Amino acid sequence: MREGILFIISGPSGSGKTTLTKRVIETVDNLKFLVSCTTRPPRLGELDGVDYRFISENEFQEMVKNERFAEWAQVHGHHYGTPVEEIERARSSGVDLLLDIDTQGARNIRGRYSSSVYIFITPSSLNVLRERLIKRHDEGTLEIARRIEDSRKEMDEINSYDYIIINDTIHEALDRLKAVIVAERCKREMVLKSLKGF
Ligand code: 5GP
Repeated sequence: MREGILFIISGPSGSGKTTLTKRVIETVDNLKFLVSCTTRPPRLGELDGVDYRFISENEFQEMVKNERFAEWAQVHGHHYGTPVEEIERARSSGVDLLLDIDTQGARNIRGRYSSSVYIFITPSSLNVLRERLIKRHDEGTLEIARRIEDSRKEMDEINSYDYIIINDTIHEALDRLKAVIVAERCKREMVLKSLKGF
């Protein structure tokens, strides 16, 4: 059995990466979403243990101290971290993992796990991004302005990613994301499982 691949997905807020990751998890076998920890309060409809593990600042700092995060970062004023146990468990059982983390987190985790693939999701223009953030109604005007400002910093890192997926239409972006996953699995000869007699 090969070890699980880590598909690390980044992209500005409003790039549609959350929708894309949810859809891809529903349709691709042997692929799990890694639930991060955050100190951000849940949004309407978000569930603890499904979207995030929502924890207090104290709990977060305790986990940092005990080195229980593979990486962590402050994003848009809140803390986010990837629990190391979740990664280890999935990798050793051969399950591929999808991580939705920001560009700082992706940078910090780079080189730590051998089988990692870096994917950047973005709309084709800043205008599309702005419109999506406004339509989402999740955040106030100030928060939207902050996320747009942060998106410029995230875009600066785009060239360090293995794949870039333009997400203007969800179906096309989903097809591309699935294609990346299939291609990376083929690279690791997952297909050999079905080849007999060699
Ligand atoms: P949101 O609050 O909109 O769910 O996420 C804000 C940002 O935090 C997104 O860019 C998302 O990719 C990032 N994020 C979510 N979980 C983690 C994590 O565990 N580590 C890091 N570094 N970023 C994360």
